[in-house]
Amino acid sequence: MADSHPHDRYTELANGPLKLLVKKLGLPAPVPLRRMADGAYLSEPVLVLGPSAAADAYAQLLLDNGFDVRRTPTSEKLQAVLAFLDEAAVPGDLSGTALEVGGALRSLTRCSRVITFSRMPGTTAHPSTEIDPALAAARNGVTGLTRSLAHEMRAGGTANGIVVADGVPMDAPSARAALWFLLSSKSAYVSGQFLEVGTEAGADVTAQEFAGRTLAGRTAVVTGAARGIGAAIAATLAREGAHVHGVDVPQAGDALAKTMNAVGGRALQLDITDPEAGSAIAAHVGGPVDLLVNNAGITRDRMLANMDAGRWDSVLGVNIEAQLRLGAGLTEAGAWGMTPHVVSLASISGIAGNRGQTNYSASKAGVIGMTAASAAQFARLGGSVNAVAPGFIETEMTKKVPVLTRELGRRISSLQQGGLPQDVAEAIAFLGSDAATGINGSTLRVCGQNMMGA
Ligand code: NAD
Repeated sequence: MADSHPHDRYTELANGPLKLLVKKLGLPAPVPLRRMADGAYLSEPVLVLGPSAAADAYAQLLLDNGFDVRRTPTSEKLQAVLAFLDEAAVPGDLSGTALEVGGALRSLTRCSRVITFSRMPGTTAHPSTEIDPALAAARNGVTGLTRSLAHEMRAGGTANGIVVADGVPMDAPSARAALWFLLSSKSAYVSGQFLEVGTEAGADVTAQEFAGRTLAGRTAVVTGAARGIGAAIAATLAREGAHVHGVDVPQAGDALAKTMNAVGGRALQLDITDPEAGSAIAAHVGGPVDLLVNNAGITRDRMLANMDAGRWDSVLGVNIEAQLRLGAGLTEAGAWGMTPHVVSLASISGIAGNRGQTNYSASKAGVIGMTAASAAQFARLGGSVNAVAPGFIETEMTKKVPVLTRELGRRISSLQQGGLPQDVAEAIAFLGSDAATGINGSTLRVCGQNMMGA
């Protein structure tokens, strides 16, 4: 696999000289994940299971896109199993397909995928909306099945779900794009998660197009682009064909210039907490903004008992208040493109909470709230707004975490390793593309199914 783990010595040793010992002692055995440098898709067949009409439609779609497809269990090696449970009406309807998936697991190759397809459970509907409890139980059952299976996957394999709203065709454009994302190396560090397709919006994209330049000709703004995850986002968006404008504080000016030169982008030295940041960015870009990535973020950890106003206010100021102002500023400046997308960085700390991070968790939970609440506005504009919640990612920031906490952070995920900045960037490029417009207001965890809040 092309990308090794630059900071993770254990994963290197467990795949090298200590491989046998690790196996003998039953220690975590993280597998190097396949990433885009290894190619977008594997070459083995895809097994499509389930009795629904959508299963037939997707089997044909895969064939049309050059995949080798099987419709019945086989002893051949497989790159993926697709399980269609979208017509399950009572919990008993799950058993046939679930057990068939189980029978196919031993045939899966390294870094394989299981993808379930289902309808939205309706558990988030207003309490006054009557839904059939047995139907809701069946649909919600798919969630539990997928999440548990993700914990059981081996050798770098993942399990995720595509969930489609009632009234939206199972093969809506964004459901198909979600399939390409989950099948491909772009989702290396996404496991135990669900992509919820709420509308029929979204541009059609073939599997091959998805592996290519999904953002060709688009203009993207990335905040905090000088280093870490932001620099990887800039590089990935540029690889996908976007013109990138990187924003970072003047103190990071040299690093920003270097990053932007490397990706053929343009640098803007600006503190995003500047009240005029929105209009400054609009003026710098000088044209429509198709994608805004709210990546700049800081931590100032302290137990709440020891928290001071400086730490609290600076974290909330950069991580959420500046984002709210920036979005409003770009709207005011009339800077959005025809189908604008926003992707903001949340964190699993914003979902599960984390000791010593009340300020950070408040800001990141705020990002999730802001994202859900902005969905209607961006749907009206023909675009989308989503968030990505990284787990433990190997960056300069996490390199400074004390060694034992760092080891724990890596190994408590189902993939038993930290993710790379590129993994977060791939999810952002996907959610920021026109193909994913039908996914709106959601937060996608990129965490290798970290146990924190899972
Ligand atoms: P990092 O500290 O390496 O990079 C953050 C960048 O943002 C820096 O270049 C910094 O100069 C810039 N920045 C900070 N304040 C700014 C401001 N006011 N205006 C403009 N730029 C500013 O951090 P990272 O690890 O790359 O994290 C990037 C994002 O991902 C953050 O929002 C972080 O909260 C989130 N995140 C990271 C992890 C992880 O494991 N590293 C996990 C969850 C979430």
